[in-house]
Amino acid sequence: MLDLLIIGAGPAGAAAAIEAASAGLSSLTIDKAQFPRDKCCGDGLTAGALRHLEALGVTPQTVPSWQRVEKVKVAGPNRRLHDFELPANRGQFAAIARRSELDHALVKRARQAGAKVVENATLEAIRISGAGTSKQTVLASFNGEQVQARHAIAADGMWSPTRKLLGLTEPGQRGEWHAFRQYFHNVSPAASTDLHVWFEEDLLPGYFWAFPLADNSVNVGFGIQRGSGHRIQSMKRLWPDLLSRSHLREVLGPDATPEAPHKAWPIPARLGRAPLTAGPVFFVGDAAGATDPMTGEGIGQALETGRLAVSCLADRARNRPSPMAWYEQTLRSGMAIDHRLAEQLARVLATRRGAQWSVNVAGLTDWTSRNFARWLFEDYPRAVLATPTRWRRNTFKADGAFYDFRSVEYGR
Ligand SMILES: Cc1cc2nc3c(=O)[nH]c(=O)nc-3n(C[C@H](O)[C@H](O)[C@H](O)COP(=O)(O)OP(=O)(O)OC[C@H]3O[C@@H](n4cnc5c(N)ncnc54)[C@H](O)[C@@H]3O)c2cc1C
Repeated sequence: MLDLLIIGAGPAGAAAAIEAASAGLSSLTIDKAQFPRDKCCGDGLTAGALRHLEALGVTPQTVPSWQRVEKVKVAGPNRRLHDFELPANRGQFAAIARRSELDHALVKRARQAGAKVVENATLEAIRISGAGTSKQTVLASFNGEQVQARHAIAADGMWSPTRKLLGLTEPGQRGEWHAFRQYFHNVSPAASTDLHVWFEEDLLPGYFWAFPLADNSVNVGFGIQRGSGHRIQSMKRLWPDLLSRSHLREVLGPDATPEAPHKAWPIPARLGRAPLTAGPVFFVGDAAGATDPMTGEGIGQALETGRLAVSCLADRARNRPSPMAWYEQTLRSGMAIDHRLAEQLARVLATRRGAQWSVNVAGLTDWTSRNFARWLFEDYPRAVLATPTRWRRNTFKADGAFYDFRSVEYGR
């Protein structure tokens, strides 16, 4: 019998697979896709995500499109861009990397660490045997094969077939946000180095972005909040209108050319309201609804929850409760509080006045600009001041990720 079955090899599942291999657990990771596979995403990596990638052994050099970001430009509804600088020469605090390449690098790293990852393997059935006893196990099948494991990690994304097969999906649950993205190449020098965000009046509290990539291209997209008065069905009509807006065209430059058609996908931001565990099954990443409710960033959260689930399984020290209870408790006393704060801030951003005021206050002085950029890119947990258990001596002074000779040399 396996120690662990991991369903899904996106960032959450791959992070869990790497940690499981390092902890000496016997594991099997299955994914219905074949890598490299695309994932509809803005491709933005926060400082939190970057530190997890570094700890997992994934380096910028293994991802060709990786673009380090130092300058962030944010506009409120008046469309005037404010500059926000991230710390320079101290490692990376934000970067953009195509998901097709990043996720492939994570899968390769998992295999290199000793994990078994099977592609083109779709979960077909899953059940918990011995429910309610101390001898619970997971019985699952994929591609006609049966597996039994002591624990499972559901890292199978927004629609989580595991959650559905276990009968835990709430009816009508279609994600808190919905977002569009499309790549453009041949863009202007500014678009290929600086990160742009516009809080457009007709998208609030959502926003419109142009995120730079190293291959002289950008990831352009927008997200809107479900139930905020916007109709998801009308997003398709809104897309050409947004792309024709002069402030975006100006940033993209006259030669910008769209790549493959745009894609759209929902974003689940309901950490603590969707199940985090079920018997011996952990839910991680989008399957746990773990994206930030204000920005829709979920890669860092996927890496963090995937790693956390395995560390709860592997580290039985100090008279802790069961791994499942420890996982729930850690998330409820940390990330879930960050997300409640982010939800409140998203309410401020929902009005023209609130959005403009927030951007103005953030850009008031050099100090507010610097700290806003670091806070926005999750250099430290959003609600760190409200959660003393997470205070560390260097919380506000930590270096970025990949602060070594190679990252300086290659300028990445
Ligand atoms: C348009 C858009 C823009 C975004 N922008 C950003 C951003 O800039 N920065 C950021 O941090 N986050 C962003 N996000 C959120 C981010 O994409 C997700 O939070 C992140 O992908 C979650 O990772 P995951 O590993 O949990 O799930 P996923 O990346 O969705 O991976 C799930 C995996 O499970 C597999 N799977 C599904 N069903 C099965 C099955 N039956 N059997 C086997 N395998 C299965 C899938 O093939 C997939 O590989 C964005 C999301 C959207 C939609």
